[in-house]
Amino acid sequence: MSLPRLDRSQLEEATLEALHQKLDKDPRELLKWAYDLLGDRLMMTTAFGKSGMVILDLIKDIIPNLHIHFIDTRFHFKETMDYIKLVEDSFQIKIHLQKPLVSLESFIADHGPRLYETNPDLCCHVNKVEPMDRLLKSYQGWISGLRRDQSKSRATTEPLEILEPDLLKVHPLVHWTRSDVENHIKDHKIPLHPLFSQGYLSIGCEPCTRPASNPDDERSGRWAGKEKTECGLHLFRKKANPKDEV
Ligand code: SF4
Repeated sequence: MSLPRLDRSQLEEATLEALHQKLDKDPRELLKWAYDLLGDRLMMTTAFGKSGMVILDLIKDIIPNLHIHFIDTRFHFKETMDYIKLVEDSFQIKIHLQKPLVSLESFIADHGPRLYETNPDLCCHVNKVEPMDRLLKSYQGWISGLRRDQSKSRATTEPLEILEPDLLKVHPLVHWTRSDVENHIKDHKIPLHPLFSQGYLSIGCEPCTRPASNPDDERSGRWAGKEKTECGLHLFRKKANPKDEV
């Protein structure tokens, strides 16, 4: 469904109305609303965590043609790359791999083989944030599986956020708890990434992901031993929530 691009004020007006109607209380309603608003300029990214899999399960019924993207840093577990094929087959969808501009060989030649240890922020910028920023230039809406209960850094996530300059970020599961997600996965028999059965609670790049050190903290296995808690994907182009602007 091809629709004209909205300007920022139209996006803000639509977003405020959706929040006023409390569409954010039902992930299906919020997804439907976002697609009706943006059509083919809406997409989803996922790293195949449990929340992402729940959203994919909803999307396959509501917006089966939605573009789904995975940021392929080239540092992912083999299990993740294999799992992508399983998800494509199970859900009858196509996952598009978005890669960094620079080849892995050039990246290693420039920075050495372990930039993820010496400068993980730069590593994430080159391999995650830049590819995502480039991808977003083709869209106006971005669905992501962030939930408030995942970590302190995500506790204030809003269901709808407008990022600079006119990008709508949609978080259908922002109000869901970990148990809500687990129950949906069980009820709908969603096949999970195989590393979840080995103590991982969140899956990222292999060098920076460990089994969770705290079972109550889903992201405790990410960048373990470092101050870093986010790759930057969900921090850039941030702008105050439209609710705060009125
Ligand atoms: S998560 Fe680790 S390996 Fe992946 S891009 Fe960031 S620093 Fe690099």
